[in-house]
Amino acid sequence: MYYNSILETIGNTPLIKLNNLADDLQGTVLVKVEYFNPGHSVKDRIGLKMIEDAEKEGLIEPGGTIIEGTSGNTGMGLALAAVIKGYDCIFTTTDKQSKAKLDMLRALGAEVKVCPTDVEPDDPRSYYSVAKRLSEEIPNSYYPNQYDNPSNTQAHYETTGPEIWEQTEGNVTHYVAGMGTGGTISGTSKYLKEQNEDIQTIGVDSKGSVYKKYFETGEFDKDEIHPYLTEGIGEDIIPENMDFDLIDAVMQVNDENAFITTRKLAQEEGLFVGGSCGAAVYGALEYARSGDFGEDDLMVIILPDSGTRYVSKIFNDKWMQEKGFLD
Ligand code: PMP
Repeated sequence: MYYNSILETIGNTPLIKLNNLADDLQGTVLVKVEYFNPGHSVKDRIGLKMIEDAEKEGLIEPGGTIIEGTSGNTGMGLALAAVIKGYDCIFTTTDKQSKAKLDMLRALGAEVKVCPTDVEPDDPRSYYSVAKRLSEEIPNSYYPNQYDNPSNTQAHYETTGPEIWEQTEGNVTHYVAGMGTGGTISGTSKYLKEQNEDIQTIGVDSKGSVYKKYFETGEFDKDEIHPYLTEGIGEDIIPENMDFDLIDAVMQVNDENAFITTRKLAQEEGLFVGGSCGAAVYGALEYARSGDFGEDDLMVIILPDSGTRYVSKIFNDKWMQEKGFLD
């Protein structure tokens, strides 16, 4: 038995029970470990889907260039698909991203442009603006725009949602995911709620992001925005892929709780995962402990990526001490 290319190994990631971190809870807590994807993150699912859909719609022709603003994981998913399908890639990213992430993109032949973090999204120097400008300048280029591209949500509607439903034999009661572009939470939640409308979807946001307040009040409050270190979740914009109607509660988690939980996942569960995974688990357990999670309940938490991308940060004691997260 063999696969015709690496792209066929995307998806069908395992569900694994949390044994130690959730041992005070009566219900069952499972994590879906997305680092089992070939590019080591959940974003392989959307990288492939966005390119396939663009090909079908004639938005990209053979030999073309894919240009995207990405924190690394989406870039990896796009780069994998591009290698197999014969496209070039240019990625714009921010200066807060791990060097390891950018080196991995370059290893797959992509060009990476680093842009400043602390500028407004519509500033011409922002990584959104630079990606957009390059896509206008470079002929036969395609700008997938994971924030507003419906193929992002659709990838999760077609793969992540059905996998969770089948793997839990329809017994899932709570679904938890971090909120970045919104693709993971919206697509998966849509599928799961179509199977059983009682399933509760809990979004996890980062302190310093606009989502929680927007979800609770409908107000886009710029005062909520401040820099934070957790990569991949929280935003200073409301992307089209974020469908708040499919979300029942939002938990906001700070960097310290996210990173301490990330280290516990490695040391107490053998799950060597990234910082947004620690945030998702911390937010999920806080939600479960607040009451709405009983003996017969079954929670599934998405763990988007791998710890390998954060060895010089979250898993480095000196860095954690410098940031004030460890004594
Ligand atoms: N965690 C990490 C590490 C990510 O890269 C992303 C993608 N931005 C997310 C969580 C959030 O996923 P989504 O964009 O589908 O909301």
